[in-house]
Amino acid sequence: MTVSTQEIVQALQSVLTEEQVTVNETVRELHGKDESYHTMKLPDIVVFPTSTEDVSQIMKISTKHQIPIIPFGLGSSLEGHVIPENGGITIDFSLMNNILDVRAEDFLVTVQPGVTRSQLNKVLKKHGLFFSVDPGADATLGGMAATNASGTTSVKYGVMRDQVRDLEVVLADGTIIHTGNKAAKSASGLHLNGLFVGSEGILGCFTELTLRVYGIPEYTTAARASFPSVNDAVEAVVSILQAGIPIARVELVDEPSMKQVNHFSETNYQEKPTLFLEFHGNEAGLQQDVEFTKEIVADHHCEEVEFETDNAGRNRLWEARHNLAYAFIHGNPGKKLMVTDVCLPISELADAVNHARETVNSLNMPAGIVGHVGDGNFHVLLMMDMNDPAERAKADELNERIVLYALERGGTCTGEHGVGVGKQKYQQQEHGAALDVMEKIKRALDPDNLLNPNKILQINSEVTKL
Ligand SMILES: Cc1cc2nc3c(=O)[nH]c(=O)nc-3n(C[C@H](O)[C@H](O)[C@H](O)COP(=O)(O)OP(=O)(O)OC[C@H]3O[C@@H](n4cnc5c(N)ncnc54)[C@H](O)[C@@H]3O)c2cc1C
Repeated sequence: MTVSTQEIVQALQSVLTEEQVTVNETVRELHGKDESYHTMKLPDIVVFPTSTEDVSQIMKISTKHQIPIIPFGLGSSLEGHVIPENGGITIDFSLMNNILDVRAEDFLVTVQPGVTRSQLNKVLKKHGLFFSVDPGADATLGGMAATNASGTTSVKYGVMRDQVRDLEVVLADGTIIHTGNKAAKSASGLHLNGLFVGSEGILGCFTELTLRVYGIPEYTTAARASFPSVNDAVEAVVSILQAGIPIARVELVDEPSMKQVNHFSETNYQEKPTLFLEFHGNEAGLQQDVEFTKEIVADHHCEEVEFETDNAGRNRLWEARHNLAYAFIHGNPGKKLMVTDVCLPISELADAVNHARETVNSLNMPAGIVGHVGDGNFHVLLMMDMNDPAERAKADELNERIVLYALERGGTCTGEHGVGVGKQKYQQQEHGAALDVMEKIKRALDPDNLLNPNKILQINSEVTKL
């Protein structure tokens, strides 16, 4: 099929406005990459819909002319998710950023996909509510649902998939569907919420999300506990979980990462393997949890526990943790961040973290290890020189060794960042025959393979090159 960019621009402008469609080089460059080290490729056109109907019209044009579509939230993903592998039309959802409904009594909120998590939390605070999922970047809720994001609070509140009650989705042919409802439970039909959350834009575009929110806890206490070794810290977490303490956050930050934290956030925390902890609850229950936790960490050779009871100290602590990736980037000018992301059964975690540290040391690469350890999820943060092939090869080897270690022990190649292009090569090993089922679902919903092609699954197809 031959068609020019200009013809597609005109077709798009006939259903949107002129300002909503652009071929501007700078805008295309901003949509040609995410925050990962994967190679940039440019979309041919970028569009900015303002309604579900706009998105449906864009999809119909894409299908008619066989042009790939790449949904785009904030571009903060870490595995090349938004890179237009074959060019095409990038749909930027930033203008669809309205909070449509807050149903405080139902603990539900309905938002457009371009709303960011901090934007939502600012509004929810007035209702005494908060949204729990907090990836390091201030990502959009559409992007977070599409990657099944999680963060520091997932150990208590769950991941993105646990928060989604309903999605409005525009399918490849422009059809608009709802995947769920507003009820707290349902035994009706197949679980489409579960299917679409984490689908990385390859099955449809989310245009509305109904999400669970929570009451702001009556009391919150945060703490920092430092240990002589990563092993002691991880084993303390396992004991805390085994004791049934309903911890709200528990993050591991290793020694090199603590150095970056202090340097970037101007804190003077101990530069030892550290757990950042948070407890939510009422005053009496919380006091018991805190006391029990103190005993457990002491059993695991904890050298120092510092509590942050006031808001300012707590915010400083979590801001320092959230800014960690940026601290590494800031501390290594000219280098690019590579983040590994595996998740294992919690009983395997201490050995897996040790294996990762030994691998990092054997490859002689400066790197930090951090993790949402309550979930069995950890990352190696590695800064590499993209122009040094030897360094890139070592980074790839590190990633591969860590992934294979996790897969061999019943884990997954990605706990939260997703597959994109970076983790595609592990899909067969992780899923076996189930990968064929995924391909069948993709072909049924997107027979022309137009939606974010070559992410998660590698499917050969002919698309129109503009
Ligand atoms: C410093 C830093 C720290 C991070 N920490 C974490 C972390 O702790 N936990 C975590 O889970 N992630 C983390 N991430 C990764 C990232 O923030 C998440 O992957 C995020 O969920 C992506 O959201 P986004 O809005 O940036 O989406 P994008 O990057 O724009 O898109 C991500 C994917 O979603 C698809 N998509 C976007 N919008 C839609 C839509 N409306 N409909 C359908 N598909 C859509 C895209 O096609 C793409 O496949 C971190 C990233 C950075 C840079």
